[in-house]
Amino acid sequence: MSATPQESNGNGTIAEGCALCGSLDSRLVVRTKQRTVAECAACGLRALKPMPSIEELIAVNDETVHPFFDAYLEDEQSYRAYFTRKLDDLQRYRAAGRLLDVGCGAGFFLDAARDRGYDVAGLDLSSVPAAYARDTLHLDVTVGSLFDYQSPSGAFDVVTLFQTIEHEPTPVALGAELFRMLAPGGILMVTTPAADGFVARVMGSRWFGYRNVEHVSFFSRQSLRHVLEGAGFEIVLLEIEHGKRLTMKYVLNRLINYYYNHRTFLSNGLRVLRPAMFLLGKAALFEPWAHLYAVARKPAKP
Ligand SMILES: [Zn+2]
Repeated sequence: MSATPQESNGNGTIAEGCALCGSLDSRLVVRTKQRTVAECAACGLRALKPMPSIEELIAVNDETVHPFFDAYLEDEQSYRAYFTRKLDDLQRYRAAGRLLDVGCGAGFFLDAARDRGYDVAGLDLSSVPAAYARDTLHLDVTVGSLFDYQSPSGAFDVVTLFQTIEHEPTPVALGAELFRMLAPGGILMVTTPAADGFVARVMGSRWFGYRNVEHVSFFSRQSLRHVLEGAGFEIVLLEIEHGKRLTMKYVLNRLINYYYNHRTFLSNGLRVLRPAMFLLGKAALFEPWAHLYAVARKPAKP
């Protein structure tokens, strides 16, 4: 089995510079046995220290995404309701064209975008949701990282990243690549957990955003603006929105995963908790002021 960040960041050093602005001036936000998160004093980016390698992140992703895929599919309706609202927004900025969804998961957004006439393609690091998108929804989805995708420059009119950039250890390189692959005037739509959101502020270092082992970068409005403007984008919209509707089953799954031993829970917890999960399957809640929501545009003229 591959190394995970938990096994490789034992000393909790924060000597490396900020992945966004390079500043060495940072303060510790979270320090537990498993994870150390530091906030850059200059740009506000919060990030794991040290940052795991891409190989480690893919191994973590495989371990966590695959066991939860069934629960994710059970939330299809609430995902689709959320993406309908996002498409309503998107159509105000770019009503048609070539669209890439980075971190597309099972393809619910792409499926809906295709219905509205966009020419869609998707990309995901994880093979299980990608296979669902391809085999069940018949979408053009590639497994791999954005940097291996090697899109021609200016190939897309719209690129979307829903709950994806928090998985990204190199936000500057990501911003540059997104800018390169968009055509002039192209639209970028991004959502990510808000490190400056209501729940994050109330919970402090115990915020579950920090517990998700797949997440390595934690953005506020300040640091997300830094990423987008630093790459050359014009900000069209940058706000904090409520989370989408979640079933209690999904929420319990994630909370137990975050606050108890990850591997033990995956092997024992799901089986033990299944009857309770079934009873809670009908209940739902949403997280207030939970996510950053940004729309940005590549300038039409350089
Ligand atoms: Zn910084």
